[in-house]
Amino acid sequence: MTSTPITATILGAPRIGPHRELKRATEKYWAGTLGRDELDSLATDLRRTSLSELAAAGLDSVPVNTFSYYDQVLDTAVMLGALPPRVAAVEDDLDRYFAAARGTADIPPLEMTKWFDTNYHYLVPEIGPDTTFSLHPDKVLAELAEARQLGVPARPVLIGPITFLALSKAVDGAGAPIERLDEIVPLYAELLRRLAVAGAQWVQLDEPILVTDVLDDAAELAGRVYASLAGATDRPAILVATYFGELDQALPALARTPVEAIGVDLVATSARAVAAVPELNDKLVVAGVVDGRNIWRTDLEAALATLASLLGSVGSLAVSTSCSTLHVPYSLDPEDELDDALRSWLAFGSEKVLEVATLATGLREGRGAIEAEVEASNLAVKSRKSDPRLHVDRIRARLQTVLAAGVHRGPAAERRRAQNERLHLPVLPTTTIGSYPQTTAIRKARAALRAGEIDQDAYEKQMRSEIADVIRLQEELGLDVLVHGEPERNDMVQYFAEQLEGFFTTHNGWVQSYGTRCVRPPILFGDVVRPRPMTVDWITYAQSLTDKPVKGMLTGPVTILAWSFVRDDQPLAETANQVALAIRDETVDLESAGIAIIQVDEPALRELLPLRSKDKQPYLDWAVGAFRLATSGVGDATQIHTHLCYSEFGEVIGAIADLDADVTSIEAARSHMEVLGDLNAIGFSNSVGPGVYDIHSPRVPTTPEMAASLQNALKAIPAERLWVNPDCGLKTRKADEVTRSLRNMVDAAKEVRA
Ligand code: GLN
Ligand code: ZN
Repeated sequence: MTSTPITATILGAPRIGPHRELKRATEKYWAGTLGRDELDSLATDLRRTSLSELAAAGLDSVPVNTFSYYDQVLDTAVMLGALPPRVAAVEDDLDRYFAAARGTADIPPLEMTKWFDTNYHYLVPEIGPDTTFSLHPDKVLAELAEARQLGVPARPVLIGPITFLALSKAVDGAGAPIERLDEIVPLYAELLRRLAVAGAQWVQLDEPILVTDVLDDAAELAGRVYASLAGATDRPAILVATYFGELDQALPALARTPVEAIGVDLVATSARAVAAVPELNDKLVVAGVVDGRNIWRTDLEAALATLASLLGSVGSLAVSTSCSTLHVPYSLDPEDELDDALRSWLAFGSEKVLEVATLATGLREGRGAIEAEVEASNLAVKSRKSDPRLHVDRIRARLQTVLAAGVHRGPAAERRRAQNERLHLPVLPTTTIGSYPQTTAIRKARAALRAGEIDQDAYEKQMRSEIADVIRLQEELGLDVLVHGEPERNDMVQYFAEQLEGFFTTHNGWVQSYGTRCVRPPILFGDVVRPRPMTVDWITYAQSLTDKPVKGMLTGPVTILAWSFVRDDQPLAETANQVALAIRDETVDLESAGIAIIQVDEPALRELLPLRSKDKQPYLDWAVGAFRLATSGVGDATQIHTHLCYSEFGEVIGAIADLDADVTSIEAARSHMEVLGDLNAIGFSNSVGPGVYDIHSPRVPTTPEMAASLQNALKAIPAERLWVNPDCGLKTRKADEVTRSLRNMVDAAKEVRA
């Protein structure tokens, strides 16, 4: 196998467009206002621009086929002929693809779940007993040809067979998808042959599943599959890319196969494990020293040292990002509100590509060749270390004092007594999760405020009138615990990030979350300081309009971390505690203002769960600790709620109980109350509100079906501990759906009470 050596590359690039062009075009295509040709031509332009920029920046191997109209796992399912049979009737190929991704009026979509421990969501392929795999390589071949035409040294990227099957789910009684490896490996072999014919010198097969404990025999499978794929001679050179964690035994197993290159994440793991594998002495190691998923500028000096530590022990070295830069925004350029110091600490996608090129030059020509860049990097490191915003002693000292005093509340039973005396709620109290529909009027007002067309006063007036409407609606419906509806919040994390010191919120820092959905994670760069109350005015205003209790509404520390780019200069646990202290101060202020119930949302509790089993308990310990820190500043008579959603809770059920919230509302409409059985099994004895209907669907649930769901819940939870609520916030729903659904929900509660 002769192939041009690689010295500088990245593992993949973002695709939504620097200004979310692909998002906008795709949504227009869905709405029928943009044709297929126009969509394709916009996509082509975006790909070409990206390819040319990557090559011009100095990469000598450029990933292709990391473009996607929706998701790379779905693309792989298409490539392997493994779309679910229910979409087969959709004639047009792109519409069939989107039907699998989003469903249609009568086709349910594939399930969506998180890509490892990132905020990207992929579509879960379904493998049934009747799935027959077949090769459809058109997309990757076309993107390869397109890049070659531009003269770009293109390296097709594919999700590897082990990861593809491990991320798929069995349906219709089929066995575990991974058992079907022997059926798809030959298809990959054939594909490699076709890629070689089409002129690919290299191919990248992504196997991030190898850094997890999902498969018991990961090392054995990796050895077997890659011995087989690399055994063929008519193929491109193979780079097996891994990222997000440590390979453990899979590293020597891969190194013993004839693949040419292995990509390792040297941001998440140490280079020592790599240096310790003698079989790497004839491999190219693609060293992921530039963080592909966080936005910090690379410490070039440190990265050079990491690279140097590998030089003697591996065959050759290339510099790379640790993973695809899909997870970071395109470029720092549009961020004109950054101060110079902060700007100097950051690198977004295009800045990271330059870092890779710089390091590769340093590796090739010696440190002298990149002296100026290293100097600038050193200055940034120094400035970040000494910036007073990262070391606010007063906050650190207070945190220690609060932690030393302990973060426990009184015994749950006593709290319940005090709260019952104060609140006088009926059995099966009804409530909602926080947000009400974000109407066009609300969005317009926010846009107008941003554009300077209305002032803060006018904006607040309008939000107050929204709040008054939502309170009136809830009183009319007869709900027991009211909320203010969250009209003033653009996003449940960004809203707090904008008010806390230590955060920076970007203008254009969009990253793809799934499909056309993009998020703009705030940057948590410094010590977290709460200069003033963040929610008290809104909540007390809402409370002033009603005699029923209004729930204060806060986002928990773990969720704030999970949906931000977080400083990497101290353990996450420390940062979590700083955020928790700010939330704790807010709960205390709400309590002093007379608010009797406060909800601290932690929908992302499960998301940050580490990939390796051994790391899970330490994470859960600090996550629970941060929540308790946030919620233990209030007295027994103040009722703390939490809300959890978006996941299977099995693995974190013990932690949910340890949060020790007085009331936990939890997504359960779709998991059919399984979670209640799990909670009982571990002796959970606080109150719980399993969602009685699924808010993710526009369907209005009937009273009898919600009553049945409550009866069902009553088999697991006694009436005095059961709450009645939807399974998540209502912000994405239409006003009339919400009104009708909640009316039925309140009726269902009344019926079951009687
Ligand atoms: N309080 C938030 C809302 O109702 C919770 C959102 C969530 O769980 N993701 O919108
Ligand atoms: Zn939710």
